[in-house]
Amino acid sequence: MSAPALQSPPPPATQLPTPPAAIARILKVAGDPTKSLGELSEICAQDPGLTVELLRVANSARYAGQPVHSVPKAVVKLGARAVRATSVTYAIRAAVSGCYTGTFDTNKFWEDSLRRATASQMLAQLAGLDDPFEAFAVGLMQDLGTLMLAIQHPNFGTALSAFTTLPGHDRCVRERAITGLDHATMFRHGPLSGSLPENIVAAISHHHHESLDARAPKLILVAQAADRLADLVQAGASTHNIEHAEAALKTLGIREELGKLVDQLGVQTRRLGDELAIRTSAQPSMDMLLGQANLALLDITSQAEERARALEAELEQQEAEARRLEAENRELSVLAHQDALTGVDNRRMFLRQVQGAIEKGHQLNKPISIVMLDADHFKHVNDTWGHGAGDEVLKAIARRVQKNVGGPHRMGRLGGEEFGILLPGADERLAQRIAERVRAAIAAEPVIADGATIPVTVSFGGVTTKLGEPLATVASLFELADQRLYVAKRSGRNRVCWG
Ligand code: GH3
Ligand code: MG
Ligand code: MG
Repeated sequence: MSAPALQSPPPPATQLPTPPAAIARILKVAGDPTKSLGELSEICAQDPGLTVELLRVANSARYAGQPVHSVPKAVVKLGARAVRATSVTYAIRAAVSGCYTGTFDTNKFWEDSLRRATASQMLAQLAGLDDPFEAFAVGLMQDLGTLMLAIQHPNFGTALSAFTTLPGHDRCVRERAITGLDHATMFRHGPLSGSLPENIVAAISHHHHESLDARAPKLILVAQAADRLADLVQAGASTHNIEHAEAALKTLGIREELGKLVDQLGVQTRRLGDELAIRTSAQPSMDMLLGQANLALLDITSQAEERARALEAELEQQEAEARRLEAENRELSVLAHQDALTGVDNRRMFLRQVQGAIEKGHQLNKPISIVMLDADHFKHVNDTWGHGAGDEVLKAIARRVQKNVGGPHRMGRLGGEEFGILLPGADERLAQRIAERVRAAIAAEPVIADGATIPVTVSFGGVTTKLGEPLATVASLFELADQRLYVAKRSGRNRVCWG
């Protein structure tokens, strides 16, 4: 599938600048500690831009004394290190000036580079390196690859700027993800590296290597430690970044307290920025960085707490919903199993109970008895006292049955004014006795409903399973019980018939 057509034409193709010969020479001579001040001033004087720059620095407030008007005098006044720093800074800025970098924040980039140059120089001195200027040059250029990436990919300018606030490793990963190269690799393959001494290029190329130990060239270790020290300012004083910086200092054998180094870095960065005409903003102290890191942590903590609270609320809501569903299910299950008028099992549930009892009785070799009962002349009750009173009579029958059965049993409403009683474990004799007791209890007292006194009698038909016989079916037992109930009705009602 082809990429969709762009709305607007892409920006003009950008190219990495190849430094003009003069600038390449400045880089080479300034980077070479064996070159004399004389050679240096000769090279500097050939470039009008650098001439202006050296005179500006030499006549700045930082360097008191007589004003100077020529490069050789400026070089003598400034000294080798300042001349080299000024020359290299001028040369690399000149090499990339005017290149299109989209929305890449170049001002911030130069401030960050200056901070790295300062850190590198500081650490080189503490680690006892012969030529702290080399470290300055390495620091100044260690992230130059980022600017080169921005020149090649101006569309990614904003992203490449944003990545500079990430700790080194993450930053390289992101750079590779969008451009295919990280800044260290970009620099090594870029045109400026050819104009620089190999040890400087090596230090810049390897400053993000994770597995450097104390045997690595000191300049590389300095570059790495400077990177991590500067990261505290750029990427924040998180525990991870602090540990990383401390580890790099330890490898380099520097024992100075990290906070002191960061504070010193801030002061010197601003001073060097003034000297080299690179704009710097206020540099944070270690205390400020730690405060910010704590705030960020608090923010993360409070975000986590908020998430936890939201989750808890959601969980509570889910639990409430689960409880509601459970209650609803219970209610539904009750509705599904219970007769609404009398509260006894409905027909379906009662049949299920009988089925279970038949199987269990068979298994345990115990009898079960089933009694069917039907209110006598119930139509007459309805006709005389009304349907409501009839309902009350049905409820009273259910109550009296349950009250007088005792022992394990189930009662179900089979329909209309017909009920069933299941008596698990009851043999014929016991079941008959129970049925008789129930019958007598119902007949003993009239039901009082709607202020009326209603005499009630019930007829019973029963059946008991025979031990040792094949498993009985619910239908066969019900049929037998029903036949006996019919016999009870025919023979005068208000009686129990069995067999
Ligand atoms: P028998 O002694 O032969 O059983 O006579 P019966 O009048 O009881 O029998 P029949 O089957 O003729 O009438 C039963 C009546 O029960 C008819 C029906 O309207 C009434 N019935 C059925 N279900 C209900 C109910 O839930 N509530 C009320 N109030 N009446 C009901
Ligand atoms: Mg009836
Ligand atoms: Mg009937």
